[in-house]
Order: sequence, then C-alpha cells, then structure tokens
Amino acid sequence: MDHFDPEEAIARVQREFGEHGGVCPSISRSSTFTVMTPETMPEIFKGVRGPDQGGCYLYSRHFNPTVDVLARYLAAMENTEYAICTASGMAAIACTLLQLCRQGDHIVASRTIYGGTHALLADLLPNWGISVTFVDPTRAEAFEDAARPETRVYYTETVGNPTLGVADIPALARSARPRGITLVVDNTFTPMVMSPAVMGADIVVYSMTKFINGASDLIAGAICARRDFIRQLMDLHTGRAMLLGPTMDPRTAFDIIQRIPHLAVRMREHGRRAMAVAEHIQTWGLTVTYPGLPAFPQHTQMRAMMNPGYGWGGMLTIDCGTQKKAEAVMDRLQNTERFGFMAVSLGYFDTLMSCSGSSTSSEIDENEQRAMGLSPGLVRLSIGLTGNLEERLKQLQRALQACGLIG
Ligand code: PLP
Repeated sequence: MDHFDPEEAIARVQREFGEHGGVCPSISRSSTFTVMTPETMPEIFKGVRGPDQGGCYLYSRHFNPTVDVLARYLAAMENTEYAICTASGMAAIACTLLQLCRQGDHIVASRTIYGGTHALLADLLPNWGISVTFVDPTRAEAFEDAARPETRVYYTETVGNPTLGVADIPALARSARPRGITLVVDNTFTPMVMSPAVMGADIVVYSMTKFINGASDLIAGAICARRDFIRQLMDLHTGRAMLLGPTMDPRTAFDIIQRIPHLAVRMREHGRRAMAVAEHIQTWGLTVTYPGLPAFPQHTQMRAMMNPGYGWGGMLTIDCGTQKKAEAVMDRLQNTERFGFMAVSLGYFDTLMSCSGSSTSSEIDENEQRAMGLSPGLVRLSIGLTGNLEERLKQLQRALQACGLIG
C-alpha cells in the first residue's frame, strides 16, 4: 500500500475491550478519578503526569477514558499524533482559533464555509481584536496575497459548504509553513475521502454531528493535531478547551465509537448514490454541482487529493433559479415523493435538503453570498443511503418535472 488508507489506519489502532472482555468498550462515566498515590496529584496539576504521560485520569473535563478511545480512532483516521473530542463542531472550531490567535492577530479564511463559522470569523472574533480576510478557497495564491506579518491562521473547509469548491490543501500547506502560519482545515464533508493532515494541514477539525456519526441523533466535534497543540488546549491555566469547557459526554463518545467501524462503508455508499444522482440530473439537462462530475471545476485537483476507494462524497447542489422554485422542489420531494427530508445538517442515512442561502448560510450577507457563488435558488442535498436507488431516481425526476425544471 503506497497511499494512506484511513480505514486501515483505524483498524490498526489497539481495540478497546470492555469490562468482562466485552467486544464493545465500557462507558466510563466518572466525573472524577481516584489518584492512588499522593505525589501524583500535584504532578498532574503541573501538566507532567496526564493519562498520556504515564499518569492517570483526574477529572472528565480534562480527559475521560471513553472519550479518549474515540479520540484515538480519530487521530488514527486523520494520521495526526493526537485528537480531542468536543461537544460540537463549533466548539472544535472556536477553541482551535482562540488557542491560535490573540488580540491583533489576523486570519485568512475561505469565504465558502458553514454560516456559523462565517459568523464566528466575521462578527465575533473582530470584537476581540482578531481580524479576518475572506478569500476564494479554490485559489491558494489568494491566501498568500492576503497574508500579513500578523497572520496566524489559514482557515478552510476541504470541500466548502455549500457551493463545494475544493481547497488546494497541499498548496496552502506549502504557503503556510515558511510563513509560520497554521493551516486549519474543516473536513466535515469528506471524512475518509480526504485526509488533510496527510496533505500538510496542521490541524483538522470536524463536526462529527454529520457523516462521522451518521445518525443525526447527537451533536459532536473533534480537533485532530500534534500532541503539543492538544496539550495547549488542555492546559490547566490557559487551555481554551479546558477553560471554556466544551466537554464531550462519554455516552456520546460511546455512540460514535460504535459507528466509526462502518463509516467507510457509509461514505462509499453515499458517494456511489450521489454520483448516480448527479449523472442523472446532468442527463436531464439541469445544472448540478458534484465534485465527481468531470465538468466540476476542481475535479482533477480533487482526484489528486483523494484517498482511493471512498468515492467523491455525498454532497451535491442543484440551482433552481429562485428561492420560491427551490422551496417548491423540496416540498414536492419531501411531501409527495418521500425522497428525503427538508432539514438542515448533512451526513444522515436519509437524504437531507435545504435551501442554503436562506438557511445554513443566512448569516452571510447577500453580497458575500453572491461573491461565493451562492444563488438564492441553490438547494444543497446530502444524499442518503436508504431505499432502492432506481426508485429514488424516479422520485427525483418526477419532482423536477412537476416543478418545470426539466422536460
Ligand atoms: N463545519 C461544517 C462544515 C458544518 O456544516 C457545520 C454545521 O452545519 C459545522 C462545522 C458546525 O458543527 P456543529 O453543528 O456540530 O457545531
């Protein structure tokens, strides 16, 4: 094997057995842990005897054994030294950026990102003296042009939400490193499909609420990075994850641990079906954006970045022209055809669809939406993996015909 294979990397991590030899790990719910020898306690507080330093667990806002199992799987999947899990994707993103930046610092960020992250960067961080310049994520030179001596971070999503532009991660890493800039990549849309850290990213963040968990029944996030950065996040005096407290509950960690082993199978199936849907929409004559289509602007670049064998991801968009038309299509698809659900979020086993401009990207103003190529009629679909694919394609065709989008 001459390429990185995330599925194999997870399989190689030491399996965590449960009490009594259980094939599932046990859930360790203690908030606090017994320290067996008195001299250990001060050493833990000095930061030299944590659970990863031959010491022991102290308190579950710091580290928890069950949450650590999930963190180990994620670090293996991303090929990073270490990881921590957080209560949400936004917690992972916010803690990472607040750890890296101080008053007076500057971030160059992709303009094609999840609306909540955009709001954090555009509206919240400037209040604390951290400035942000937004650029086109598909042009690595745009990041470089915007970089200043006080730039600390390049921030991008691998495949941007919602217009799916692909960032050139190797080129961004080449630009960031000599300038001492940290490259932070949100890989929420493409777990397994792409491995940003293998391509040179310093930190990979996730909303595990989406594909990684896959069941739309919990909110979770992760930060995958070098061990020293995770230690900084958990520092007892200045660690943003330690002190802002976005802790993952061990029961949530257990649920996700049980779903990691079929993440690769799910990603392949999301990708297979999304490809079939995109190809059919294309032959029906409607504009569709999907990275797997040869006409997609960064198709060749993404092929060079992908881990082979996991497909092109489960996300695609169609442009219905106006918000009204987009709403009519979603109404038909949900309430007449039972094709999927009108709901925000993504990565569920059923298809989810939303009109991004007026929902998950509504924090972004109209001018900025236009600049990122987000039209008011754009419908984002997270293609599910339930039901018969042929039947699903017929449902979709009938709905698009009924709304006058195809003949
Ligand atoms: N990153 C991306 C790409 C997202 O789409 C989202 C949520 O939609 C987030 C981060 C935030 O994740 P969470 O809702 O788990 O906080």
